[in-house]
Amino acid sequence: MSSPQPCSRPSLEELKIRLGEIYDLQRASAVLSWDQQTYMPKGGAAARGEQRATLSGLIHQRSTDPRLGELIARLEEENSPLDPEQDDHAMVRMARRTYERNRRIPEELIRQLTLKTSLAREAWVEARAASVPGRSLFGHFAPYLTEVVRLKREQSEALGYPESPYDAHLDYFEPGLLASQAAILLDRLAEGLRPLVEAITASSIQIETTFLEDVRDGEKQWAISLEILQAIGYDFQRGRQDRSAHPFTTAFSGGDVRITNRLSSRLETPLFTALHEGGHALYHFGIPCRLERSNLASGSSYGLHESQSRLWENLVGGSRPFWAFWFPRLAKAFPERLATVSEDSFYRAVNAVRPSPIRVEADEVTYNLHIVLRFQLEQALLEGRLAVKDLPSAWNEGMVRLLGVMPRDDAEGVLQDVHWSSGQFGYFPSYALGNLLAVQFFNCALHDLPGLNSSGSTGGLIARGEYAPLRQWLHDRIHSWGGKLLPDELVRKVIGGPIDSQPFLDYLWDKYAPLYGLQRPPAKRSGLKISHLGGE
Ligand code: ZN
Repeated sequence: MSSPQPCSRPSLEELKIRLGEIYDLQRASAVLSWDQQTYMPKGGAAARGEQRATLSGLIHQRSTDPRLGELIARLEEENSPLDPEQDDHAMVRMARRTYERNRRIPEELIRQLTLKTSLAREAWVEARAASVPGRSLFGHFAPYLTEVVRLKREQSEALGYPESPYDAHLDYFEPGLLASQAAILLDRLAEGLRPLVEAITASSIQIETTFLEDVRDGEKQWAISLEILQAIGYDFQRGRQDRSAHPFTTAFSGGDVRITNRLSSRLETPLFTALHEGGHALYHFGIPCRLERSNLASGSSYGLHESQSRLWENLVGGSRPFWAFWFPRLAKAFPERLATVSEDSFYRAVNAVRPSPIRVEADEVTYNLHIVLRFQLEQALLEGRLAVKDLPSAWNEGMVRLLGVMPRDDAEGVLQDVHWSSGQFGYFPSYALGNLLAVQFFNCALHDLPGLNSSGSTGGLIARGEYAPLRQWLHDRIHSWGGKLLPDELVRKVIGGPIDSQPFLDYLWDKYAPLYGLQRPPAKRSGLKISHLGGE
């Protein structure tokens, strides 16, 4: 290995072996985690925690092995400049990014973070369960969260950042994105959403939703969720749907991509969850076999992943053509509650907008405002502009400012999300980026696949329950890249420009103006989609 010239192949082969082993350890840990969240009896918790900690330690050791650094440096030198579209070059480029990141975090800091976040999470569970109107246990959680914030700031310093300590954490979820860029995007989004939310709240149209509520026939919901998954192309030879308290998708390999779902007293919730998790799963299924067991066997970013789940959940599942196909089937399964309900009433009900204090229950109009609030607060915490003790009042003030609602207590306010107690600062923006990208991608698909979304007597592809062309389009344009490109590179390739909030706002106005009898203020519309005005 010491001679400079002929080492390229051996170096590349050794890099692949090492990345393959890291991949195996990561996916083995994912199996343990999946089991913990689905079938593991309570008694297994302590041992499972140790098993996963051991695996995390091994993953960290292998990911920071100086030999890995040598291989990367040698391959960079021999292949300069790296062409990110070429598999091997992309592998080296992404290995450099991850290696640098892992190498900069001292082992002791990782140990402290693991320890302190597990304590914080426990305190969060207790505080949330015990907080009721008039009585908050945020004070019980606050010292633990303060410690987590302190460690995350220490992590920022270890990692380094261009402008804000928040950049160091955002980069993990959205490689290459700066806090200042995210702030511009999310501020514009919030600004654009304000008049729409106000108009909907002021509208005299009340959408009837009672026929969706108090469902106690979970087996039927489950059966239809499986039918929907099958229809959109989820491959049950390479996956399965199980139950868990919080739905998620996990891939153990390209041949084993699992999703979870949960029953709900809302008729449509498990169906939309199946579309959401199914969208994540299709992304995993679509990654080429040749990238298996490498550092490229994943999506580009959390936001890109979320764009796929949101596209199926909202753009497909929330559309009229989708229910033109599925409503008659649903009505047959639930005759006692849907016999007197029209397809139009059903479509309206599943799209009803109600500003609520709870993020995971939010509709697609108000959802991103929940993200804007979290983004502003977590950035302020990491930049030292906000103290943990002031978080509940900042939260409540933000909820009123952005959504016009006041949480009844901290359980449905500042204590509702698990992310901060787990140290996942920088995660929230990915949800909003995914929502924006879903619309931008879907607009491109509409252009390339005429008739995808048309309703009317003959119906388009979605109205006929034919999803293969859309799935193939997403595969060719997005999934087939795996993790080779940075998110901004991939987005520009697919839509020819950067991520933008305007297409999302246009989509919302086009969809919700007819539902709530609204007139859109004329000046705000972007010039691009004038031909869509008036159409639904
Ligand atoms: Zn998701």
